[in-house]
Amino acid sequence: MINIPKGTKDVLPQDAYKWQYVESTAREIAKLFNLKEMRTPTFEHTELFQRGVGDTTDVVTKEMYTFKDKGDRSITLKPEGTAGVARSFIENGMGGGVLPAKMFYITPAFRYERPQAGRLREFHQFGVEVFGAKGAQTDAETIATADALLKKLGLQVKLYINSIGCPACRAEYNKELKAFFEPHLENLCYDCKNRFEKNPLRLLDCKAEDCKKINANAPSMLDYLCSDCKEHFEEVKSCLTLAGVDYEIDCRIVRGLDYYTRTVFEFVSTAIGAQGTVCAGGRYDGLIQQLGGASVPAVGFAAGIERLLIVMEQTGVSIPEAEKPTVYLAGMNAECRQKAFAIASQLRKAGVFAEIDHMERSVKAQFKYADKLGAKYVAVIGESELEEKAMNVKNMGSGESEKVSFENAVAYFSER
Ligand SMILES: [Zn+2]
Ligand SMILES: [Zn+2]
Repeated sequence: MINIPKGTKDVLPQDAYKWQYVESTAREIAKLFNLKEMRTPTFEHTELFQRGVGDTTDVVTKEMYTFKDKGDRSITLKPEGTAGVARSFIENGMGGGVLPAKMFYITPAFRYERPQAGRLREFHQFGVEVFGAKGAQTDAETIATADALLKKLGLQVKLYINSIGCPACRAEYNKELKAFFEPHLENLCYDCKNRFEKNPLRLLDCKAEDCKKINANAPSMLDYLCSDCKEHFEEVKSCLTLAGVDYEIDCRIVRGLDYYTRTVFEFVSTAIGAQGTVCAGGRYDGLIQQLGGASVPAVGFAAGIERLLIVMEQTGVSIPEAEKPTVYLAGMNAECRQKAFAIASQLRKAGVFAEIDHMERSVKAQFKYADKLGAKYVAVIGESELEEKAMNVKNMGSGESEKVSFENAVAYFSER
């Protein structure tokens, strides 16, 4: 037997409705906010992620699925959704079109991680990207989009926001951070020692216990924001209030990726037994330029679909089940099955959800199977029904039966 690769998962037919529910809810919310779908390839040139995600991040240094293709090109399976959308935005000249470009995506993503609970090597993300608008209202609207989705899915979440400034004010802050961490360097974890020179901001969100203790006293970026960044952050906060979105400020939120500027945010599940980040995002005004495009402001977020489903399951959120067949047509013998097949064909053409027996079961077994499927009606066709040109239709809910002529079948079931 050939097994599924480590860190991947099948979505079995009986569970697919959960995925469909989350995805259709995401699409519905996207529509309310005028976000259009963007689909980009599963793999890209490795350089895109090195430049777009930042080559000091864990994602790029340790976790990418990178390989040489037969043309000796370095190819990488996308580790996240933003870089591909940004590449496409530049390549298709969307910056010269009508802005903002408001987009969403639903995509698989790949990271070579140590498999552990809730962490897969192939996972799926819903993400939003808004390119071309620099105002704080756009940040707030993007956050409100995530808020609307999470609430619609029935999750109990708390929103944490922060500002990590612009390259100008962050340079000053980075100096202060380095001065703060320098005397503690020896006590920091291996990763933080490496980040210290290249990306000191990342030391703030390290999850290692020793680092966390040291972090607690680190200076806050909010005290170093330049006047423009400060004004932007104040406006984001007041717009969130206007949108009815509650938030808390957490100056430890910096995001793991290098291209973020100003607003960063995380939604954390507050449900007992299902804590943790379910959605994260922010503004990344430097990304498009870093990828060779013009200077185009950008803001967005991503949410892991598997993670959303786990939290929904753990907190007992009810997910609407898949639709059940309206009618199951049971045939008693070969000739009756032919009739059932023909009527099912007519019903489906008329848009009625119909099913028949494919396993040559007895009528009794067909009833049992129809019940398992959750069919609302079972229509039985036997010798006498063939003669009368009418089938015996049983309402599985009430138990009542009535005769429905073959001729009337489409009209009868179309209304049910
Ligand atoms: Zn600034
Ligand atoms: Zn650390």
